[in-house]
Amino acid sequence: MTILITGANRGIGRALLDGYRGTGADAIGTARGALPEGAGWQALDVTDPASARALAARLAGQPITTLICNAGVYADKGQRLEDGYPAEIWAESFAVNVTGVFLTVQALLPNLRAAAAAKGLARIAIISSQMASHTRAPGGSYAYRASKAAALNLGRNLATDLRAEGIAVGIYHPGWVQTEMGGSGAEIAPDVAAAGLRTRFAALDMATTGCFETWDGTPHAY
Ligand code: NDP
Repeated sequence: MTILITGANRGIGRALLDGYRGTGADAIGTARGALPEGAGWQALDVTDPASARALAARLAGQPITTLICNAGVYADKGQRLEDGYPAEIWAESFAVNVTGVFLTVQALLPNLRAAAAAKGLARIAIISSQMASHTRAPGGSYAYRASKAAALNLGRNLATDLRAEGIAVGIYHPGWVQTEMGGSGAEIAPDVAAAGLRTRFAALDMATTGCFETWDGTPHAY
């Protein structure tokens, strides 16, 4: 059973990786920068198709039972409408939070298909945000909200297309988490969020594919 987590060098991704390894699971962490010390790391910049293809080539033939698309950026954190909001913020937000998810899934589909063929089920978990929901529009964070909404939409459509192949897709809000992105005043620690998310991922199957849930299992409005 191989689990692969993008953006695993810090934050929620790192807590997920440590949590899985703590249970003895075979978990691969990816990072775009210098790889942390130790085995089980792979390079991946999710915005770079060549990087995704190179990862897939290195992992050729290795079934992946759970792919966790966690890497993300909040490029407009603190920006206000009056601040100018440069177009680069939109480009970066979509490159990482949306295209990055798609490129990773696309590159690793053969690995997911191999796991689904062998075990009858493989899983893709997309870490979006409650800020993706169309039911919440408190204003601000335009690029982040729009990109996370697009990631939710992407996940729902992948769930439709991959259902027949035994690959389930879930979309998740990890909670407001004490990471560089969430800030030190956030509500929960990364290991708490990660433990909840791991339980949710384990419950993801063909009955729940396409779900949008919080880390504690509460269904979220789309
Ligand atoms: P952090 O900012 O702590 O970590 C983000 C991770 O994503 C880092 O490992 C970073 O790598 C990686 N990353 C960014 N861009 C790329 C890229 N191009 N290729 C590969 N990796 C990349 O964030 P969190 O851990 O808090 O967030 C994880 C996920 O959870 C994100 O998708 C985020 O949007 C989501 N989320 C977080 C919330 C929170 O309260 N923290 C709330 C709701 C959603 P590097 O170190 O190289 O920058």
